[in-house]
Amino acid sequence: MLYCNHVDQRSRRGSKFAHPRRYTCVLNPFLDYRASKCPSCLRQTFERKFALFIHIEGTGPIILGKTCKYCARCEMIFVNQPDVAAELGLVTGRPVEELDWMVLGTVDKRYWKARLGQGPATADTPAILVPFKDTRRVACG
Ligand SMILES: [Zn+2]
Repeated sequence: MLYCNHVDQRSRRGSKFAHPRRYTCVLNPFLDYRASKCPSCLRQTFERKFALFIHIEGTGPIILGKTCKYCARCEMIFVNQPDVAAELGLVTGRPVEELDWMVLGTVDKRYWKARLGQGPATADTPAILVPFKDTRRVACG
């Protein structure tokens, strides 16, 4: 039985954003759980590419293009933590186990595409961040 815990990110977030909140982020720490069904509405999820806005302690914010399982009905994005951690290790050149990171929201894909080919996309300002409405974590119970 899988359920989702709420994750309180409020202390990590500022209070003012340029964009209204959108999407619920569901962090998935399990390599073998692929979120083929939405735990909320039980419908089948599908894959969609998102430009994720991720804050890394000691590095700052980066934008990572990532294909995630997605439930359009619930607007839930399932973020596989081991996958993302491995990619952040490559991007930062730092050992994965030393990385302290948090997905704060998404970025308009047009912005992200405009930055491709310029090395790791660094988000210089939170003005582009579309913060998540809610963040949950997949848990076994
Ligand atoms: Zn759903």
